[in-house]
Amino acid sequence: MAVCGRFAPTPSGRIHLGNILCAMLSWLSVRAAGGRYLLRIEDLDAMRCPRSLADLIEDDLHWFGIDWDDGGSAGGEQWYQSTRSAVYDRYFAKLKQQGLIYPCFCSRAELHAAQAPHRSDGTYIYAGTCRGLTPVQIAEKRKRRPPAARVIVPDGEVHFVDGCQGSYTENLAQDCGDFIIRRSDGVYGYQLAVVVDDAEMGVTEVVRGRDLLESTPRQMYLYETLGLDCPQFYHIPLLTAPDGRRLSKRDGDLDLGVLREKFGRPEPIIGMLAAAIGLRPTIQPVALRELVADFSWDKIPQQDIALPPEILQRVQ
Ligand code: GLU
Repeated sequence: MAVCGRFAPTPSGRIHLGNILCAMLSWLSVRAAGGRYLLRIEDLDAMRCPRSLADLIEDDLHWFGIDWDDGGSAGGEQWYQSTRSAVYDRYFAKLKQQGLIYPCFCSRAELHAAQAPHRSDGTYIYAGTCRGLTPVQIAEKRKRRPPAARVIVPDGEVHFVDGCQGSYTENLAQDCGDFIIRRSDGVYGYQLAVVVDDAEMGVTEVVRGRDLLESTPRQMYLYETLGLDCPQFYHIPLLTAPDGRRLSKRDGDLDLGVLREKFGRPEPIIGMLAAAIGLRPTIQPVALRELVADFSWDKIPQQDIALPPEILQRVQ
């Protein structure tokens, strides 16, 4: 099957060095395989994701040397998740038909008070509080607040081999619990939207940060339950400061706005990232397309990458 990859940014801020590394590796992997590359805008939370920021991301990607074969503003509205709820409705109905969806009235405060243990991504392991509500109880609760919708997960192991992190196993019932498919305000959750979109758009490989590794068993379960083909996953290492602290959008000094102003051209930044990730032995300015020929996943490490102080000094 022809390779198809994508970059799927959430435009809630300007992209930073970690996002651009993800875009870079997903693009290199596709271009090295002669595949198709897509840009999908994950603006489900439309209030936090203005179109102006999505446009800026496109501009930053072009500047960096990343092109795409479909998607983004040139591809039309269907590449923005905020316009796709009718598509998600269809898949939601399939889960419902299988008896896997139930309404959940738990508020954030109640979940917090229940002191369910959390996972490292900050979500709760849901104890199933609303799973057994009777129709009468549901009707009563509906009068007070609209429910979210959760999907029932099985008590069994989900196993997969990540192209970068290797073997990963999770028991959804024990490690996650029934999870949110649609929020109480009617907005679909990331887990359903990303699965439906990657499947409908023909994506065969998903490259993203290692922080999303824990989401993947939930997504694999949805692929299987919805009868969709599952892509190959590559969860790439995160960039950290020299002391191991994760770089994030809070490090505003490492966003593309500042980097573009500081360096004026992308080659020095690409050279630094290529050396940090093991694609080049030394730091030398390089254009992105020059890295295509000898790109290989074997070169990419599993562990997070602490940027050497001299790189951060160059950047800051
Ligand atoms: N939209 C997500 C983010 O920007 C990425 C989702 C994915 O690649 O699956 O973090």
